[in-house]
Amino acid sequence: MVKAAVLKGVEQVEIMEFPKPKVAKDCALARVEVCGICGSDPHIYQGHLPVPYPIILGHEVSLILEEMGPEYPRHDVLGNPVKEGDRVALVPAYNCGKCVVCKLQPQRHNLCEKGECYGVTLQCSKEPHLFGGYAEYMYLYPEAWIYKCPEGMSAEVLALADPLAVGLRGLDAACSPGLPWAREGFGVGKTVLIQGLGTIGILTAAAAKAAGASAVYAIDGVKSRIDMSYKFGVDEVIDFNEYKTPEERLARVNKLTNGMGCDVVIELAGVPAVFQEAINLTRRGGKLIELGHYTDVGTIPINPQVISFREIEIVGLWAYAAPELGTAISLIQQTMDRFPYADLITHRYHIDEADQALKEARDRNCIKSVILGK
Ligand SMILES: [Zn+2]
Ligand SMILES: [Zn+2]
Repeated sequence: MVKAAVLKGVEQVEIMEFPKPKVAKDCALARVEVCGICGSDPHIYQGHLPVPYPIILGHEVSLILEEMGPEYPRHDVLGNPVKEGDRVALVPAYNCGKCVVCKLQPQRHNLCEKGECYGVTLQCSKEPHLFGGYAEYMYLYPEAWIYKCPEGMSAEVLALADPLAVGLRGLDAACSPGLPWAREGFGVGKTVLIQGLGTIGILTAAAAKAAGASAVYAIDGVKSRIDMSYKFGVDEVIDFNEYKTPEERLARVNKLTNGMGCDVVIELAGVPAVFQEAINLTRRGGKLIELGHYTDVGTIPINPQVISFREIEIVGLWAYAAPELGTAISLIQQTMDRFPYADLITHRYHIDEADQALKEARDRNCIKSVILGK
């Protein structure tokens, strides 16, 4: 039998056992080593996103391929050979390949009309049940992309590739179609402000620095996260316990940027008022990337005139497209000596403790917490 933590309704987690499935010829069964608790998981737990209960949460996984059907691919998406016993990362969302979005915008896998996502949209009452990472095993369909883990990368660090991919998508979207030398969008020498230093915020700071940002600033108020962010390339954190009002934070950002505001602002707090504030923190002609609101936590008034006057480009993003997980793994590999990725994992829980883990993540007591698999 396979143990899993099942979300049966709002804040209702039950530990259940499922039969170990028979593997279809084009599928695979993988043992879960580690599954990160995404910032969105506690929101799903609290009912901020409609999901088809019951589900097994968890999509930031490091897996060991345990049994591969005879027709399951023997290579990852980049062509690296894979065999049973290999460690892989999974792109949790997979697309249908047939709908109008898949045909006309194949680079936006994540917007597929019939797309599914492990740990979010797949009901675990249906066979073969194992569709989420808070479990001992996961069942892999051939549509879902896998990436082989590079030599020397631990399971916990590999599981950070998923949140990093979300942040990289933010930086990618801030590049295009800008001309960085003309002070448009993200590029070498630009200033970046990150609102919210959860795991994605900290990893996005590291990525921005690695990609040549001249300065990376952040806004947060949790001491452990602020301290950690300085190890990941953040130049200054504006602590909202010290700079208490939006006006005080704006004054500080203006001081740091010669009165201009930041070239790129990335909203990663998932709090509507933070998006409202971001509009004033972005320089005139700058880019504002909204990707903190994977779940629905409410609305906020916006003054459209400020957006016009400041000529801000606002880009909304939803999760990431499958190729970005490969970019994230590659970036971690290139910068492993520069940033202490393993230090981001501050809390570890067993599957039986999933309910407690979600509550503690909801209360923001941790940086990255993980569920340990089998
Ligand atoms: Zn995630
Ligand atoms: Zn589709």
